[in-house]
Amino acid sequence: MNQQIDTKLIDGKAFAASLTQEIAQKVLHLQQDTGMTPGLAVILVGDNPASEVYVRNKAKQTHKVGMRSFMHMMPSTTTQEALLALVARLNEDPDVHGILLQLPLPDGLDPKPIIQSIAPHKDVDGLTAYNAGQLALGYTEGLIPCTPLGCLMLLKNELKTLKGMNAVVVGASNLVGRPMARLLLNEGCTVTIAHIHTKNTEEIARQGEILIVATGCQGLVKGSWIRPGATVIDVGITRIPAENNKTKLVGDVVFEEALGRASRITPVPGGVGPMTIACLLSNTFKTASKQIKQS
Ligand code: NAD
Repeated sequence: MNQQIDTKLIDGKAFAASLTQEIAQKVLHLQQDTGMTPGLAVILVGDNPASEVYVRNKAKQTHKVGMRSFMHMMPSTTTQEALLALVARLNEDPDVHGILLQLPLPDGLDPKPIIQSIAPHKDVDGLTAYNAGQLALGYTEGLIPCTPLGCLMLLKNELKTLKGMNAVVVGASNLVGRPMARLLLNEGCTVTIAHIHTKNTEEIARQGEILIVATGCQGLVKGSWIRPGATVIDVGITRIPAENNKTKLVGDVVFEEALGRASRITPVPGGVGPMTIACLLSNTFKTASKQIKQS
């Protein structure tokens, strides 16, 4: 017999708002103690409208918590050398404590050497080999990519301990899937990763007491893919046409089908998205306070 479950929506927006408020308080105390203000530099190359919205929102939130925001909007004609030179300059700038390179880069630019040229202690997106290595080794000193960090915070807030749970991560990017899987492993979960070449993703997904989906494939995960009672974190964001010539954001999970099946789920929008920005501010504060206290 199929039992209907009363699915709880995980309110990432509210959690992020309280985290942001906490960070604003900490920024204030740091300023009072040291006279210094944390600063975040964001680099955007080209004219991708979605990236522009993200970057402006990040700058707005950075100001809101009392930190300085340095926006570097570069034309799509920017060369690899010019980008490397900009990162080198920001690495040396004592007012800049965090550097974020907004991805994806326009065609013709190779993100890998640019990301790897960011000083690890300013790498607030946790993408350098140093920070990814710290996480892979189960060490806690490195900076953790913002989106998986936000997902983990939501999970721990809901479930308290994750130890011993079966977790399935669908998606294996360096930005989300891989670090997510490593974080869950470090929490004591038994982790399975599914990706584009996985043959039986549906079957694997159904084993997850925790199911994280980060593929960018709208509606990939149907209700029947979800283990009854699972906690589902939907990272995917796709903008689709809506009524009255408008657009709306949807996730990788068929939300309506997940209701009654999952015990908890993050909505899109209002789930993981706000947590990503809050964790960016948290990472910036963390590394800034370390740098300021050492200076
Ligand atoms: P990506 O394209 O770099 O990686 C996608 C991953 O999904 C790959 O590992 C690929 O193998 C896997 N995949 C693709 N199709 C699949 C399928 N049919 N079955 C199984 N696996 C499949 O993307 P990303 O940067 O990891 O982002 C994933 C999604 O999350 C996107 O929609 C992105 O917009 C969203 N995202 C949201 C936030 C947020 O703050 N909410 C942050 C980052 C990314």
